[in-house]
Amino acid sequence: MLAVEASALTASLSLAEQAAIRAVLVSHPHFDHCKDLPGLAYNGPWEQPIEVVGSAGTHAVLRRTLFDPSLWLPFFDFPPAAPRLAYREARAHEPLTVAGYRVVPVPSDHYAPAELPVLTGQAAPTRDPSVALGFFIACGDASLYYTGDTGPGFAAALGDLRPDVLVTEVGLPNAQRHRVSELRHLTPADLQAELEILGARGGPAQGAPARVLAVHLAPHSEAAIRAELVEVARATGAAIEVATEGQRLTVTAP
Ligand SMILES: [Zn+2]
Ligand SMILES: [Zn+2]
Repeated sequence: MLAVEASALTASLSLAEQAAIRAVLVSHPHFDHCKDLPGLAYNGPWEQPIEVVGSAGTHAVLRRTLFDPSLWLPFFDFPPAAPRLAYREARAHEPLTVAGYRVVPVPSDHYAPAELPVLTGQAAPTRDPSVALGFFIACGDASLYYTGDTGPGFAAALGDLRPDVLVTEVGLPNAQRHRVSELRHLTPADLQAELEILGARGGPAQGAPARVLAVHLAPHSEAAIRAELVEVARATGAAIEVATEGQRLTVTAP
């Protein structure tokens, strides 16, 4: 089984389901995307390695934070004979086969390694464009694109890739669009622009995703984002829904 992010794996999956995970794609090292990796690794079985697939920047942060030996067992090096977590580097636009799926990492504009001065207004954002990734995941002719966290630009970064299903973050309401350049999340208005690029040649058969699932809605602004997404669906004709916990999604080729 392939997991996308480790946001809620231990909270939402049984131990047997966790034991079936062979690989985890981690988009970037923000806490909300990797916080269940330590528990997943600990729950075992330890003799069965899990691939952790992400950028070199993501791996470096995980090692020195969640898997620092002063905080938790350093599962990238432990047990010494056969570490529980096996890091596998993902590089933008270099396809990988992971747990039987074809995975194409796509660069995303999101991660700033030193954000505190930015958040406190003391410095401008200095993003590291090599850290955050989205993942195009294909099995046979069916495909999905998961944006991870991203500012505007993911549709262009996808190049010729056209997913059947888009799972996209929509982190901010339109009223906070002025904060997009600082926080690098999408508003519904930004998503509309991205969908217009993906579907510039017409409907699903020409490149627009058949289905769009919105995730990562800021809880404090969820009602506003939901209302604005209804307007985006109306304007673009896209089938947009807000994903729910426990939702099952079947991806099929057109
Ligand atoms: Zn983030
Ligand atoms: Zn996030």
